[in-house]
Amino acid sequence: MFTVRRFCSSDVRVRFAPSPTGKLHLGSLRTAFYNFLFARAAKGRFLLRIEDTDQARLVPGCVEQFERILGEFGLAPDESPLRGGEFGPYQQSQRLGIYEEAASRLVDSGHAYPCFCSSKRIEMLRKSAARRNTTPGYDNLCRSLDADEARRRIADGEPHVVRFKVKKEAVDFEDVVYGLVNQVVDEGDFVIVKSDRFPTYHFANVVDDRNMKISHVIRGMEWISSTAKHIQLYRAFEWTPPSWIHLPLITRDGTKKLSKRDRDAFVDYYTAEKGYLHLAVLNFLIRNGSGIRNFEPHRLYQLEEMIEHFDAKSIGRRNFMMDHESLESYGAQAFHNSSFESLFPSILDRLNSNLPGADPVLKKPEYVRKVVDFLRGHEESFSALSSLTNGDFRFFFTVPISAEALLAKFDAETARRLLTEIVKAQSWDLASLKTLAKKHKLAYPKLFLLIRLSIIDSSSGPPITELFEFFDRAECEKRLAHMLELVERSC
Ligand code: GLU
Repeated sequence: MFTVRRFCSSDVRVRFAPSPTGKLHLGSLRTAFYNFLFARAAKGRFLLRIEDTDQARLVPGCVEQFERILGEFGLAPDESPLRGGEFGPYQQSQRLGIYEEAASRLVDSGHAYPCFCSSKRIEMLRKSAARRNTTPGYDNLCRSLDADEARRRIADGEPHVVRFKVKKEAVDFEDVVYGLVNQVVDEGDFVIVKSDRFPTYHFANVVDDRNMKISHVIRGMEWISSTAKHIQLYRAFEWTPPSWIHLPLITRDGTKKLSKRDRDAFVDYYTAEKGYLHLAVLNFLIRNGSGIRNFEPHRLYQLEEMIEHFDAKSIGRRNFMMDHESLESYGAQAFHNSSFESLFPSILDRLNSNLPGADPVLKKPEYVRKVVDFLRGHEESFSALSSLTNGDFRFFFTVPISAEALLAKFDAETARRLLTEIVKAQSWDLASLKTLAKKHKLAYPKLFLLIRLSIIDSSSGPPITELFEFFDRAECEKRLAHMLELVERSC
């Protein structure tokens, strides 16, 4: 049995090892984040290694995308494909020679062997296992091939794979989160090098973790079932395995695994789409899994504080739950605590990409600062930047483009009369507006609704008095006059 080893801080080396198969998954970001925290808390090193051995599933651009996202979240790796490092290359497709050599070692020591079975035969085995309702697997036929014959067939260029000799025995290991785990590899000898010379995930993963001096493997729970296989490989090489830390599953409600079809399963939903600040997303990710000593669930932690209080032993086994309510609260805290200087570039980016036609004056720092100050002063629950361009607070940067909402509540003639009169009114204080409403036999909230729809095209949002204060009379008049025009045009 393997126990958790003690490390002096400089020995700690951990890695985030995603496969480049598309957009970064939320679970992958969480794995990277915990690896990062673990490394920083132990003053160790954090690596990014790209596991691109499955060439069929490769999506171009992922390496750049992953490194960029890690950087944006403040989780930049110390060693990576783009940064380089002592143990590179950090992309498995560029390390084929290393795996080839490692596989030869296992063949020479009798732990692996070449297999010439055709894919047709393998498919037949799979089908007959399915018919018998047993676990599909290889029947180890080529294990008994004569070594000289195998060498001759390889020399003749016959296609083959390399298989690892599985031991059908119980494997025990200690997981920092799950405690003592006992597993049996209940399958036939598995492939470690494919016929295209590429290694399989299990093999490359173990060889690289060893080569890159990885001290702790921190990854999602879905990989725990692979660990016994990995340990058998370590044993065959006579290498000491790293320590294991498997993170609980990410679920929507505690039981159901997050599906790849869910939009919120991917990091870009939180950043590009919703516009939560990065720190809010990190707090959301740490909330259930914890790992923070004396964790206070409602507090927004700074990254440095998370590092300071991080302790892998306090990671709970409870499945992670997608608690969007707490995300809103972290989003709001992060927005309210951020400096204008750090917010401005993100807001500007968002304005440029979502509202390219907006008046350039509205993109100037002075105006954006006024908006941010307003939100900070009046909108405690403001949590996601997307509402500035696609949601409730779009009105700061756009004027209503149709009178539709207004004409659903007022007939055109009444709207025209009222708007003309409001624009001309001497005073817009509450008493004067109430008098105006009375004159037109209208309940004054209805008049306020007309004003609100004209200024911001929405029946909810900040109170009228705050809108008057923010926009000043001149801007409000402009918007009311604009609405008048829209009403007239639609008649
Ligand atoms: N390439 C695997 C993944 O995509 C890595 C699993 C591990 O960390 O061992 O998540």
